[in-house]
Amino acid sequence: MKHPSQYKNEKVVVLGLARSGVSVAKLFHKLGAKVTVNDRKPREQSPEAAQLEQLGIEVICGYHPERLVDNTTALLIKNPGIPYNAPPIIEAQAASVDVVTEVEIAYWLSKAPIIGITGSNGKTTTTTLIGELLTAANLQPVVGGNIGLPLCEIAEDVSSENWIIAELSSFQLKGTITFAPKIALLLNLAETHLDYHGDMQDYVASKAKILSNQSDEDIAILNWDDEITRQLIPSCKGQLFPFSIYEKLEQGVYIDPPFSPINAGDPLPNAAEEASIRSIVYRMDNHSEQQVLMPLHSLALPGRHNAANAIAAIAACLKAGAKPAELIEPLTSFRGVEHRLEFVRTSNGVSYYNDSKATNATATTMTIRSLSAPLVLIAGGLDRGSDYMELLPIFTDRLKGIVVVGETRHKLEHIAKLAGLDHIKIVEPKASAEETLDEAVKLASELAESGDIVLLSPACASWDMFSSYEERGSMFKKSVHTL
Ligand code: ADP
Repeated sequence: MKHPSQYKNEKVVVLGLARSGVSVAKLFHKLGAKVTVNDRKPREQSPEAAQLEQLGIEVICGYHPERLVDNTTALLIKNPGIPYNAPPIIEAQAASVDVVTEVEIAYWLSKAPIIGITGSNGKTTTTTLIGELLTAANLQPVVGGNIGLPLCEIAEDVSSENWIIAELSSFQLKGTITFAPKIALLLNLAETHLDYHGDMQDYVASKAKILSNQSDEDIAILNWDDEITRQLIPSCKGQLFPFSIYEKLEQGVYIDPPFSPINAGDPLPNAAEEASIRSIVYRMDNHSEQQVLMPLHSLALPGRHNAANAIAAIAACLKAGAKPAELIEPLTSFRGVEHRLEFVRTSNGVSYYNDSKATNATATTMTIRSLSAPLVLIAGGLDRGSDYMELLPIFTDRLKGIVVVGETRHKLEHIAKLAGLDHIKIVEPKASAEETLDEAVKLASELAESGDIVLLSPACASWDMFSSYEERGSMFKKSVHTL
C-alpha cells in the first residue's frame, strides 16, 4: 500500500457499494485513479451506482465478473462485511494485490491523530463517551468508523488540531496493513463473529492488528482483567496504559477498592452500595502517586461493564491530553447510547430496559450482572450455531423467568430448563415481528411483579425477524409504551 495520491492512472477496484465504498470510489477517482466499483447486489438495490457513473466511474452490479482483479490491478478496497472467499478477493490474493478496508486509506490521508477503539463488546458506548469527553476538553474530536461517518470522509476534512475517534470492527481491522492509531483501545475479547472469521485465532489476530504497527510513541490501552487481551501485552509495541476494575495497577486507570469477582452462586451485589464505597483512580506512570478522579457513584453509566468502558475512555482521554478535571462533568451526565441497557419506562412498578444491542451471550451476561432486581428476560434471535451454554450460570443465578423468541427460542428454552427456571414462555413466530414482540412483552409483563425488571437482551443478532437491532429495540420500546 502507498499513499492514495500515488495511484494516479492505476487500476483500483472498490468492492461493495455501501456508503464507505462510495466515499472511497469518489476519493480515488478525484486522485486520478481508474476506479471500478463492483457489488453483487442488483442495480435496483444500489441507488448510489448512477451517481458514481455520472462522475465517470465504472460500476458493475449484480454479479462479480471473472478476472475483475488481475495483475494490472494496483489495489482492492473491500467493504468490511464481504467475506474473504468472495471471488475478486481470491483473485486479488492470487495476483498479490493489496486488499484493504477504508480504515487503511483513512490512516494514510488523515492529518489528525487517531484513537482507535475495538473489542467484542462496549465499542459504541466507549467511542461515544470519548467523543463527549474530548469535546468537553476542547480537543476537537470527530467520531466515526463503524458508527457515524465513514472514516475516509472524516480523514479528508480533519486538521492536525483534531482527533479522529474511530470505532473499529474486527472486519475493518482485518483489512489493514500499516494502520497504527496514536492511541489504541482493546476493550475485551469474547467468542463472536466466528461465522466470518472461521476460528477464534483469526478473530483475535484481526483485533490485535490495532496494536501491531504501533511504535513506542503510541499508547496501547488494554483490559487488564480480560484473559485474552492480557495475553497480547508482551507483543505490544506501544506504551502500555491498562485499565482494570478488579486490580490496583502500577500505572493506568482502575477502581479503588477493586471489585470482587462474582462467581456462580454468589449473592447478588447491591449496585448502589458497590459504587458508594469506590472511586475511579489513575496513576499516569509507575513513578507517580495514585490520583482520585471521582467517586464511582457519580458515574451516570450503570453497571460494572460500563465502569470498565468508562475507565477505558478516561485512560484514552488522559493520554490524549485532557485535564482530569475536564472529564468529571461529562462522566456524570453521559447515560449511554440508545439500545444499550436503555431505561424505557416503569409500568405497574415494573422497570423495562431495552438492551437490543446485546447480540451475543457475553453482552447479555454482562447486562444481567449489572442489574440488581428480580429479572424477567426476553431473549432469542438469529441462530449462528452457538449452543448458549455460556448463559447457564447467569440464568441459574439471576433469572426469575424468561420469554424466548426467534430462531434460537428452543436452544434458550433448553438452557432455561437446565437452569431450573419455573417460568419459561415460548413465543412461536406470529404473522409479523411486531406481533411476536408484542406477545413477548405481554407475557413478560405477566410474569413480572412490582419491583422487578423486564429486560430485552437477546444474546443474538436480530436478522431472523428484524432489519437491525435498532428496529428490534424501537419495536420493543413501542410495545412497552402501549402496555
Ligand atoms: P459494541 O459497539 O461493541 O457492540 P455497545 O457499546 O454497543 O458495544 O454495547 C452493546 C452491548 O454490549 C450492551 O448493550 C451491553 O449488553 C454489552 N456491553 C457493553 N459494554 C460491555 C463490556 N465492557 N463488557 C461486556 N459487555 C458489554
